[in-house]
Amino acid sequence: MTLDETRLKTLTMKFGGTSLGTAEAIMQSAEIAKAARDHTADRIAVVASAIHGVTDGLHEATSAAAGGDERYLQVIAELRDVHRRCAEALLEQESRNAVAEIDQLLEGFSGFCESVRTLGEAGPRALDHAMSLGEKMSVILLAASMRQLGVAAIAVDASEVIVTDDRFQDAAPDLEATRQKATATLIPVLERGETPVITGFIGATREGVTTTLGRGGSDFSAGLIAACLDSDELWIWTDVDGVMTADPKVVDSARTIATLGYEEVRELSYFGAKVLHPKTIQSVFETEIPIRVKNTFDPSHPGTLIVPNPEESNGAIKAVTAVRNVSLITVEGKGMMGVPGIAARTFEAVASTGASVLLISQASSEQSITFAVPRTNASTAVEALESEFERVLSRGNIDRIWAQDDITIVTVVGSRMRETAGVAGRVFTATGLRGINVVAIAQGSSECSISLVVRDRDGDDAVRAIHELVIEG
Ligand code: ASP
Ligand code: MG
Repeated sequence: MTLDETRLKTLTMKFGGTSLGTAEAIMQSAEIAKAARDHTADRIAVVASAIHGVTDGLHEATSAAAGGDERYLQVIAELRDVHRRCAEALLEQESRNAVAEIDQLLEGFSGFCESVRTLGEAGPRALDHAMSLGEKMSVILLAASMRQLGVAAIAVDASEVIVTDDRFQDAAPDLEATRQKATATLIPVLERGETPVITGFIGATREGVTTTLGRGGSDFSAGLIAACLDSDELWIWTDVDGVMTADPKVVDSARTIATLGYEEVRELSYFGAKVLHPKTIQSVFETEIPIRVKNTFDPSHPGTLIVPNPEESNGAIKAVTAVRNVSLITVEGKGMMGVPGIAARTFEAVASTGASVLLISQASSEQSITFAVPRTNASTAVEALESEFERVLSRGNIDRIWAQDDITIVTVVGSRMRETAGVAGRVFTATGLRGINVVAIAQGSSECSISLVVRDRDGDDAVRAIHELVIEG
């Protein structure tokens, strides 16, 4: 096979915040993009996160301003420094232009913060305006670095590409409208032989108001762009060698997973593996684009390949993750048995508080419903339930609504679990042998994950015990 035959037509690649964290890292990312364009694909589209920590800084400055705190000025000065330092590897003209453009954005932000301070509040729409600036600044630097290496790169603001609803801070894209816009704005750029460097995380409503796709959302943006451009592959550049079998901070023997299926990676990212935003798969699901997760700082490492349905002979358990800072809420009552609608009312009440339910488990006696929510949402969720069920409580059909706060969800993932008998047994034997008490369990309907609810103090031990089964295969 000649090189030409393996060459991809279109490749979308995304660089995360740490891949852009210093002047050297930005240059390294630019080199990776150039090498891909030279050797791997005819056309590449690049998507970038904000520089690591910048989105937090923008949020912090805005909140400070809303609270009347002048500290926002200091944060803005710091953001200016961070970007200036990152511009240091650029040659004179590019550097001067980039710094000027970034200064202008921060100047605007400073005025914005002043208005926020006068108003004394910043709602979701204002926050999206503020937080979208990180990516607007990072693409200026990355595009300039690429140009310096001889790639005709141009910075693109994704509010011109990704069309969303108006749920600020967590906007949902409209795929069809986005496809049309992407075709209109990006295809001509690619056809001119240029490389668009697109802001991740950002979209805009039909009316053109800036939105964001939720924290960590630039993976999702990259998936959307990859799908809309009919990319052959999507590469996610990060600071680790791909998706790991467990958190290496907890498990010494954690290693990179060579191949994962879409549903496996979706479960993993939903249940705490930080490597891909959970909605990324949603965006490429129909187009079945293969995704590679690779390390910017060790590009020759193969990383992890994510495909719709991997064929392979690994063990049934691929990985184990943990979600910490969870509360387990239980609605309990002998009179609940056979009473229709309690579950629906329970989850409606919780949903009305904006809390997302991570896991549900119901006893077969129907005398209790137990579910997990992030700990920060627990007390408002319990209050909402108490008011929803006020009358049922007084009648005694429900005895008690309560939250247990020291909870960790440990999730075991592997799509072959569904055809392998006895996996749950092995998991419970492994945790049982370590004396870990399992508070509740749940199996995803896809049968590609099993979650164990344990006490915080047992979380790490449970992960280590189960990881031994990953190693055994
Ligand atoms: N910059 C955004 C965030 O920090 C999006 C991303 O990095 O994926 O959440
Ligand atoms: Mg990320």
